[in-house]
Amino acid sequence: MAETAPRPTNFIRQIIDKDIASGLHNTVVTRFPPEPNGFLHMGHAKSICLNFGLAEDYKGSCNLRFDDTNPEKENIDFVNSIKHDVEWLGFEWQGKERYSSDYFEQLYAYALELINKGLAYVDFSSPEEVRALRGTLTEAGKNSPYRDTSVAENVMHFEKMRAGEYQEGSCSLRAKIDMASAFMCMRDPIIYRVKFAHHHQTGDAWCIYPMYDFTHCISDAIEGITHSLCTLEFQDNRRLYDWVIENISIERTPRQYEFSRLNLEYTVLSKRKLIQLVDENHVSGWDDPRMPTIAGIRRRGYTADSIREFCKRIGVTKMDNMVEMSMLEACIRDELNATAPRRMAVLDPIKVVIENYPKDQVEWIDAANHPSDDSMGTRKIAFSRELWIESEDFKEEANKKFKRLVLDKEVRLRNAYMIKALRVDKNSDGDITTIYCTYDPETLGKDPEDGRKAKGVIHWVGAAQASAAQFNLYDRLFTVANPAAQDDFGATINGESLVVKHGYVEPALIEAEVLQRFQFERTGYFCVDPASKSEQLVFNRTVELRDTWAKISG
Ligand code: ATP
Ligand code: MG
Repeated sequence: MAETAPRPTNFIRQIIDKDIASGLHNTVVTRFPPEPNGFLHMGHAKSICLNFGLAEDYKGSCNLRFDDTNPEKENIDFVNSIKHDVEWLGFEWQGKERYSSDYFEQLYAYALELINKGLAYVDFSSPEEVRALRGTLTEAGKNSPYRDTSVAENVMHFEKMRAGEYQEGSCSLRAKIDMASAFMCMRDPIIYRVKFAHHHQTGDAWCIYPMYDFTHCISDAIEGITHSLCTLEFQDNRRLYDWVIENISIERTPRQYEFSRLNLEYTVLSKRKLIQLVDENHVSGWDDPRMPTIAGIRRRGYTADSIREFCKRIGVTKMDNMVEMSMLEACIRDELNATAPRRMAVLDPIKVVIENYPKDQVEWIDAANHPSDDSMGTRKIAFSRELWIESEDFKEEANKKFKRLVLDKEVRLRNAYMIKALRVDKNSDGDITTIYCTYDPETLGKDPEDGRKAKGVIHWVGAAQASAAQFNLYDRLFTVANPAAQDDFGATINGESLVVKHGYVEPALIEAEVLQRFQFERTGYFCVDPASKSEQLVFNRTVELRDTWAKISG
């Protein structure tokens, strides 16, 4: 699905328009700065569509920069998954991907510059002591006893920090700003700490690592970022962002702007919580189709276009919000309704035997791939004496509302004949095992001449040519709309978020490719799971045909 309407304007575009009109900038350079400590999720998709989308629309550029200052939590697998997901979403970053760690040497030099200006000092207070002196929101902090150490001594200590002469936690480099600031982040924030950790990019070259607030603004300035977009929780940190840039000798002055993060109902969008879901085996991995990760949603059957469309529909504001899952589902449903070939699959099969149909005969019938798009062509379906139908599509007796197969009544088999149910076989538990029917040979693709009408149409699969298949039916991962607000979000995990069914699919599906998407008549939109094989087909339900959830919960 191509993006139809132009992207709607938002407050960030208005700022950019103004900056271009005033001559402050003649182009737009943005960046998407993920920390490689997990897979990307739908919140990141919002940020990606915003940053890369602005670069596309203003013919500027967008960098992919890994914000990699926490080596213990990061790794190269996360780096690779993030690159793959951004590309899959359809975006291209400027040049090679970048890393904050590319700038470690420059960052070190800027830290030395601050020390030399008397604007940073090495503090040997313990983390507890630092915390105790920080004060509270209502109470000013107190100066550290190390705040007035001479420049020469600070330079020496900082060099020793780098040389590995101080233990982890024994000291840190702090910016000298204002212990009485109303903004906690300005109360002499730590800008470097000792960490004897191996880094996925720099190996063992460093045993001190810069903090986010110091690193991010300088990386933006080095790369010539014009508009540095982040989420609202960094609003206060903007003071520190600007303070660092003003106090070092760097030419370019990027500006930070904040927008509200995406929250999605019935799921969590915080890496910390997603890591917990993976580590505690509540899901099968980062790409479990119930996960709100890009990898999970892709495996669920969502397309990149549908995610971009979703991000366009939700827009960008400064207002806190909680977006309904049905908004995301509507995007993929709208797309697949137009593009997904129709197929027949029986998820919960029961056997039908057509007693007046010749025993070894098979009829290959042409069936349309789409009800309103002839350009999608046809495929062959196999009709024979034995068929599978959905067990919920048959009742021995039923009232008029039940428009499917009932004893002594007729129903139409989709794309094929009308059949009439005669009698059933049951097992010792009383469950129906076989339904015996007759068919009317004059009803293939047309109504009988005597004016009889079938009460309804049901889907089916010819038994002899069918392939066995597994169907994974997914539901919301949580039972409450805002699981992140719960004390124990694990207690609200939906135990029935995955239901596995075993049934049959029509022959045309045997050759289906991984992630190929279909509409299975009446049961939903499905895609082929990456682990599916022709001997053991596996389909994941992307979404139901209609928004049934709205009916249940609303
Ligand atoms: P999390 O809270 O999940 O750990 P994060 O902000 O720490 O997220 P990063 O990898 O640092 O994760 O984020 C990269 C970029 O994506 C940042 O610019 C961040 O603001 C943005 N981002 C993260 N989560 C969301 C969200 N829910 N909505 C919009 N943007 C987000
Ligand atoms: Mg982060």
